[in-house]
Amino acid sequence: MPQQPAEAAALPRHEVIIIGSGFAGLCMGARLKQAGIHDFLILEKDKEIGGTWRVNQYPGCACDVPSHLYSFSFLQNPEWTRKYAPQRELLAYTVKAAQDLGLMPHLRLDTALLSAEYDEAAGAWRLHTSRGEMIAKHLVAGMGALGRPKLPTLPGLESFQGKTFHSQQWDHGYDLQGKRVAVIGTGASAIQFVPEIAPKLAQLDLYQRTPPWILPRPDRAISDAERWLLRHFSISRWAYRALNYVRNEWRYIAFGKQPALMRAMQKLALAYMHKHIPDPELRRKLTPDYTMGCKRILLVNDYYQTLTRSNVAVLSNGIREVRAHSVIDGDGQERAVDAIIFATGFDLEQALGPLELKGRSGLCLQQASRDGLDAYKGTTLPGFPNFYMIAGPNTGLGHNSMIYMIESGVNYILQAIQMTRLQRIKSLEVKADAAGEYNRQIQQKLKGTVWNSGCKSWYLNSRGKNLTLWPGFTFEYRRIMKKFDADQYHARFD
Ligand code: NAP
Repeated sequence: MPQQPAEAAALPRHEVIIIGSGFAGLCMGARLKQAGIHDFLILEKDKEIGGTWRVNQYPGCACDVPSHLYSFSFLQNPEWTRKYAPQRELLAYTVKAAQDLGLMPHLRLDTALLSAEYDEAAGAWRLHTSRGEMIAKHLVAGMGALGRPKLPTLPGLESFQGKTFHSQQWDHGYDLQGKRVAVIGTGASAIQFVPEIAPKLAQLDLYQRTPPWILPRPDRAISDAERWLLRHFSISRWAYRALNYVRNEWRYIAFGKQPALMRAMQKLALAYMHKHIPDPELRRKLTPDYTMGCKRILLVNDYYQTLTRSNVAVLSNGIREVRAHSVIDGDGQERAVDAIIFATGFDLEQALGPLELKGRSGLCLQQASRDGLDAYKGTTLPGFPNFYMIAGPNTGLGHNSMIYMIESGVNYILQAIQMTRLQRIKSLEVKADAAGEYNRQIQQKLKGTVWNSGCKSWYLNSRGKNLTLWPGFTFEYRRIMKKFDADQYHARFD
């Protein structure tokens, strides 16, 4: 580690500090260890590990990507009980992964990163955390983009006297039995918990702004015999993983290259809706008017059936006002409610939250990202040496497993860190030209995709720019991340 002023020299220092203990942070830690790099910490702001699968604990929470694929390639799990594992199994997997991969001694729970600034002379990051300061040569952000709940601004909401919570902050202590509940939002989270809670409620008012495209989820239990096979024959695990990968991956042809192909899928989705929703007026409300895939396609088996229950109303004319014990819907009808559950998604533009990151020459992350985070390969930023993001901008997916993208990114970051060790490099910083040209190409590629076909979605920022999704096959991302391209970086030496 480079020389530091006396005051900084007294601070705890590490070669790498990783932020977040979800799949991304754990993957980075695991790969560092495999590479023989042991001087690292994983900071977790909460009291337990697990990232998104610990935080999201709403009823019915499950992954809509098959679990045999949505797991580390280097820690395959033959014990999944279902094709699409429920949240508690995914959380148990991440905790076990941290233990089995020897990451527990590296974890610092209840330690939030508040701010960090790059010290150019020292070639290191100075971190201010809720448990004091520390120094790291490399800083790796693995906190994901879907961490900060987004709440709607509704007239009168502050006057509401009942219970309110966001799907990501589910209050399990609040007994929903017999309650009248308004649910706002019909995205990936809502469609999972609405079928779970509806049978308990006296009344469920579902406020839908935009109907989602819905297809059945081909879920099933994994039999004991299949688990035995997967446990004893690694080839069967790899084959099943590969099968799931290919089944998902081909869909990029429709998402990215030929959105017109989505019409065939739309017919299937409409037939599925027709089968479960006999009422033509309800079908009209539930029929999307945008190309399938422009927003995330939702996979669920019991949502439409739930909407036909006598205690469920689908309200698609908005919310006029919230009062102390009621909601006035868009038609002016007052509907008494005991609770409001927000299933209104996440604030991507605030994904890095209140984190103050100051790069070279005091460059502030908020300033550098005024038009959005234009990262190079979703990973590095000009002006921020030795700083890396896992699953950063334009690496999200609408069609396959994010774990594949995380592993691709981690492989690239690991090579950068190894290179600084081998060549005694003080800092690596991506060239501004490289990042600019890379992002120009990404935005160009996005033009023909279904995601940029005109609907409003959280994939686009407030200026309509898509800084969320990877416009390509996932193996194309793996290919560009395979080898660290040092020629696109400024290397500074001691
Ligand atoms: P979301 O997909 O962003 O859905 C938010 C919902 O709230 C949308 O229906 C949106 O309507 C509505 N909404 C937002 N603001 C509103 C307002 N002011 N008034 C009325 N309605 C409003 O959020 P999410 O369901 O939490 O899911 C977020 C992401 O998390 C997903 O897309 C997915 O990537 C991930 N997720 C994954 C899984 C999984 O199984 N892998 C499960 C859950 C979540 P509009 O469509 O009109 O904006």
